Amino acid sequence: MPDRIFNFSAGPGTLPLEVLQQAAKDVVNFNDKGIGLIEMSHRSKEFVAVADEAEALLREILGVPDNFKVLFLQGGASTQFAMVPMNLLGPGKKATYLNTGVWAKKAIKEAKFFGDVQVAYSSEESTFNHVPTPDDYQVDDDSEYLYLVSNNTIYGTQFHQFPKTDKMLVCDMSSDIMSKSLDFSEFGIIFAGAQKNMGPAGCAVVIIRDDLIGRTPENIPTMFRYKTHADKGSMFNTPPCFSIHVIGLVLKWLKKMGGLPVMEEMNREKAALLYKAIDATDFYRGHAEVTSRPLMNVTFNLPTPELEAKFVQEATAEGFDGLKGHRSVGGCRASIYNAFPREGVHKLISFMQKFEQQN
Ligand SMILES: *Cc1c(COP(=O)(O)O)cnc(C)c1O
Repeated sequence: MPDRIFNFSAGPGTLPLEVLQQAAKDVVNFNDKGIGLIEMSHRSKEFVAVADEAEALLREILGVPDNFKVLFLQGGASTQFAMVPMNLLGPGKKATYLNTGVWAKKAIKEAKFFGDVQVAYSSEESTFNHVPTPDDYQVDDDSEYLYLVSNNTIYGTQFHQFPKTDKMLVCDMSSDIMSKSLDFSEFGIIFAGAQKNMGPAGCAVVIIRDDLIGRTPENIPTMFRYKTHADKGSMFNTPPCFSIHVIGLVLKWLKKMGGLPVMEEMNREKAALLYKAIDATDFYRGHAEVTSRPLMNVTFNLPTPELEAKFVQEATAEGFDGLKGHRSVGGCRASIYNAFPREGVHKLISFMQKFEQQN
């Protein structure tokens, strides 16, 4: 097996090596029980302890207030695009959405099945290269919630301040949850697919305010009601056991590293290094407007699509994976989630400088 390469994939993304090693061991023999974690009943006391610990760590690290439930659900983040409006809207009810990219657009499409949708802002005309400030849009008075995607994984833009509004926020944090501290007071629901910054695919974490759980219209099927899962501690049916276990291991690692303040500082440092390298030359051009630049997914272009293809090809040969931009924007994208090592950023920058000189 080769040494591990530097994985810049946008998702599933890099996880800490020690977590992968522990998870591999646990798949075969969990806690010296002579049985693998993914073979065990989800009702066994061993697995219940795993799930309880994952939830407790998530609450502790993110500072989730007592009046929020934490759910581990299946169907990825995409199922939440529908589940949110299924549970919070209905005939005659309205929600407001900020269209800042593909993931927001997909959520808007689903919301329209269940209620009226006000798209208060769209950055589509500028290829989603920025996120709005609160002065850029108005939220209708009769709206139930304001929906946003905190970090636009594909285009590489991020809200550095959350909207100021009297509406509760519903936020897709799939690609920046656990990267910095949060103030929960403005949020009704936060959700995130695990596979960007928290663990393996197959699990979405949903953090939902208590009072929103009982509002679901009666004709919504059982599995799509938040109450079903909240009442049963995410064990109404068989939960995504392996994903939950690995999320727990990632959270233990995160706590050991110093928690969110340390993560945020490390993320800022890594991103700053990369943006500095991009800004130092005309050869590389950042896609996002400077004020919308994210810490997690750094998107950039080279002078021509041919050079971009060559860049990705040569980078792959040097042991960098996942640098090709998403098919809807092209260019390059370096995803530098929590577990991505700073050494990899330094190596990429050296490679970028060498590539520029040679081309
Ligand atoms: C990846 C991603 C999704 C989709 O996640 P799935 O788990 O594949 O459904 C949704 N929103 C954002 C912001 C993402 O980055």
